[in-house]
Amino acid sequence: EDMNWDIQLFKLNFDGREVDAVAKVVSGGWLSMGEKILDFESSFEGLLAEKSYCSAVTNCTAALHLALLALDVTKGDEVIIPALTFVADANVVNIVGATPVLADCTSTDDWNMSVDSIEAKITERTKVVIVVHYAGYPCKDIGKIAGLCKERGIGLIEDVAHAPGASFGGKACGTWGDIGCFSFFSNKNLSIGEGGMVSTCSEDLSKKIRYLRSHGMTSLTLDRHKGRSITYDVAHPGLNYRMDEMRAALGSVQLDKLLEGNRNRKELTEHYRANLKNSSVEMPFSDQPTGSLSAYHILPVLLPAHTDRVAVINALKEKRIQSSIHYPPFWNFTAYEGQFSPKQAPIVAQICERQLTLPLFPTMTKAEVDQVTTVLLQAVG
Ligand SMILES: *Cc1c(COP(=O)(O)O)cnc(C)c1O
Repeated sequence: EDMNWDIQLFKLNFDGREVDAVAKVVSGGWLSMGEKILDFESSFEGLLAEKSYCSAVTNCTAALHLALLALDVTKGDEVIIPALTFVADANVVNIVGATPVLADCTSTDDWNMSVDSIEAKITERTKVVIVVHYAGYPCKDIGKIAGLCKERGIGLIEDVAHAPGASFGGKACGTWGDIGCFSFFSNKNLSIGEGGMVSTCSEDLSKKIRYLRSHGMTSLTLDRHKGRSITYDVAHPGLNYRMDEMRAALGSVQLDKLLEGNRNRKELTEHYRANLKNSSVEMPFSDQPTGSLSAYHILPVLLPAHTDRVAVINALKEKRIQSSIHYPPFWNFTAYEGQFSPKQAPIVAQICERQLTLPLFPTMTKAEVDQVTTVLLQAVG
């Protein structure tokens, strides 16, 4: 069924600049791994840290796969992941033959993992921890988690799909761990259709990631085109997770709009919070520590316990307001039957039953927020 939404969950923040950027590439005659990629990567490094290395890739799932390969995660290893995240985190760990181990979130207000929830799941097989900055809110224990991982010789990957432009104490999300993985899928804060970025502050890891991204080859087509090299060696077996120039050009335009978009998202989130204050609908992350700068990726709420969530979704839908669930729990997926159980993450199990995601995007108006909260509060009664 083709819904004609009045208020979509998400809307692209595109104008003529994106159209021009792509048109220029298409008429320019160089489609992959050229100057647009180099520009996008260096601008993204500018967003993160003075000394960071960014590699553009096909999507965040590819970024996560490269990160696990670069950190030598393999069969027999365990990787601690949040129980509340997109299934890509569990999938990539399985794909490299390792076992994902679920860590619970901190509380029904702080949906990120804590250093304690991670420490409880560490065994001698733990090779890597993947932290997600859920909904764009920096994991408040990220400094402690980085310290713990270093102390125990465990790798740390940040899944920064929700949090480009977020930081904690002035340090960007995506630079706390060994490797950061960003998503530029259509509905993310920086949208290019399909795309991702791998960040690291280690030159060695960056080199490894570059080989793995491009068939293990030691020189690029562009270098050969420019006459800088004649042939190439293959240092390790690799994949092809390269981004094309059209997407990189889109990415640079979208990156210019990112921080302003995040500020709009913040204002709208605060408006939601004011509207839902003292109601039976709870908004998580009410208590953000000083120094925490969120990217406000999505607008998750907790419905009152035992609410008929499908009825609420339908009431919103009747007023042509789109909503969603972030995320259905892994233990309900056929692929993960028997591998995961709600007992492994009791707080996340509660959240998954009551969670609802409301519309949020940079060009949304406060009047639209009012429309959403009015219908929502009527629906929960
Ligand atoms: C979107 C998302 C991904 C996957 O990103 P793709 O670019 O679509 O592969 C991974 N992790 C989280 C938390 C996400 O939200």
